[in-house]
Amino acid sequence: MRPVTALLADVRRCTICSDHLVDGPRPVLQFDSAARVLVAGQAPGRKVHESGVPFADASGDRLRDWLGLTAAEFYDPGLVAILPMGFCFPGTGASGDLPPRPECAPAWRDELLSHLTNLRMTLVIGRYAQAYHLPRQYSSVTAAVKSWRDGWPEIVPLPHPSPRNNIWLRRNPWFEDELVPVLRSRVAEVVV
Ligand code: SF4
Repeated sequence: MRPVTALLADVRRCTICSDHLVDGPRPVLQFDSAARVLVAGQAPGRKVHESGVPFADASGDRLRDWLGLTAAEFYDPGLVAILPMGFCFPGTGASGDLPPRPECAPAWRDELLSHLTNLRMTLVIGRYAQAYHLPRQYSSVTAAVKSWRDGWPEIVPLPHPSPRNNIWLRRNPWFEDELVPVLRSRVAEVVV
């Protein structure tokens, strides 16, 4: 296993799937092997690609609210690691952003995760991260998020916090009424 500094340097100069990235490679992640919470997301959008800061957008504002974390806490790599399933902006298709590039997780994910030896909670956002991180598969994102009562305090499936998901949130009020308060208290226990 590479030392984490060498691994991160290799990630940051990665060009494995550059032929498929219309805006070119720019891996956006936050990582320190001391992190206690992992945010396993999908892929950066254009705004995050331009800023280079993960979740520096409306999705991030909502996610921090769900977690009860300040921006300073969220962006403390000693507390929170942020690893999308694809580290670079995959571009945009007819119905929104393209899925995370499939080359990324096989190239980097297992080795990065092996360095997270203090991890106490994994927040799994969207179906690609669910497919990778959940111990079993569900028929839909909604079914996976509903599984929070199955008792995995260390793994919490979440819907995507994007404003594009407002309809889902309106249709599933139990999420913000019941799951989010429990999530906040679990996160507070882990980060304090
Ligand atoms: S998406 Fe992942 S595999 Fe592709 S260039 Fe970026 S870091 Fe490399």
